[in-house]
Amino acid sequence: MSLVKFDIKQLVRQNVLRLKPYSSARDEYVSDGSKMIFLDANENPYESGVNRYPDPQQRNLKAVLAAQKGVTTENILLGNGSDEVLDLLFRAFCEPKVDNIITLPPTYGMYKVLANMNNIDEREVLLTDSFQPDVIKILGSADSNTKFIFLCSPNNPTGNSFSEEDIIKILSGFNGLVVIDEAYIDFSTSKSWLKRIKEYPNLVVTQTLSKAYGLAGIRLGICYASEEVISILNTIKPPYNVNELTQQKALERVLNQDQVALEVSKILEERDKLAKVLSTIPFVKQVYESDANFILIKVDDANMRYKQLLERGIVVRNRSTQPLCENTLRFTVGTADENKRLIEVLKQL
Ligand SMILES: *Cc1c(COP(=O)(O)O)cnc(C)c1O
Repeated sequence: MSLVKFDIKQLVRQNVLRLKPYSSARDEYVSDGSKMIFLDANENPYESGVNRYPDPQQRNLKAVLAAQKGVTTENILLGNGSDEVLDLLFRAFCEPKVDNIITLPPTYGMYKVLANMNNIDEREVLLTDSFQPDVIKILGSADSNTKFIFLCSPNNPTGNSFSEEDIIKILSGFNGLVVIDEAYIDFSTSKSWLKRIKEYPNLVVTQTLSKAYGLAGIRLGICYASEEVISILNTIKPPYNVNELTQQKALERVLNQDQVALEVSKILEERDKLAKVLSTIPFVKQVYESDANFILIKVDDANMRYKQLLERGIVVRNRSTQPLCENTLRFTVGTADENKRLIEVLKQL
């Protein structure tokens, strides 16, 4: 249970609180295949599969997600990738030049980019040496203008999940929203936090179809939170932010959980194989434990190794400029053939 008083009306930007959402034609009536004649949205009436505007509330997709995740459709907001979902959070809650947010480097770069884009001060509290949140420093850095603390778990680029105990301390000790980015949750041995949005009114969980679900190209990000938070985001969301093709593809995929699970299990098997071999490569100094679909390693000279791999046709991510990540490379787990080739090349270097 929350120890501090949480008041959503205090948190949201005052101009957003006063907003009336734009009501689009498709908000009033959605085509359900019945014999209604739609002459309300100035669309071209000739059927192409996508001649009609998409459902602005993505009802079909949300209904399936809600049933699968054990929440209601009022707990879900969908966006054009997590990037849009996170940007909507900033625009709803963070007053430019006044408010601030806290991130925990080394972590996903988008939080900082979005803070800068929205003219919001970004406060950084480094993870500990074991890549866990430094709870005391985090809570000590928050003030009455701190709107979000971003927790990425499993964390990109380190690959580990954050301790449940630490996350509870942050949720309980902070008055603003705790945004847990679960882009890699489907690869993780830890449980998702989305089951606990009822317990913590300040908890926001974001997920995506870009990683385990294999749909990075369609751009579908998901936000799970209290009805209060979601209804605020709905007032500022562009009406047709998730296009028809994306809704169709996403629906098809979330209904095919067996295929997703099969691919995830293959990736995890490959990851563990890859981690073992990596630890035998002489210039690899450390292989960090991963709870995701990538592996971070420390090497002798990351810039040199990065270039050597590139020259042999393998593109990885050099994370050396990130704090605590000196001389590190991040490998996404590929197919069995791709990983085999990676290992061959690493052994030759
Ligand atoms: C890849 C990734 C995402 C995904 O973003 P989309 O915009 O949904 O593709 C989000 N958060 C983290 C930490 C990621 O690594």
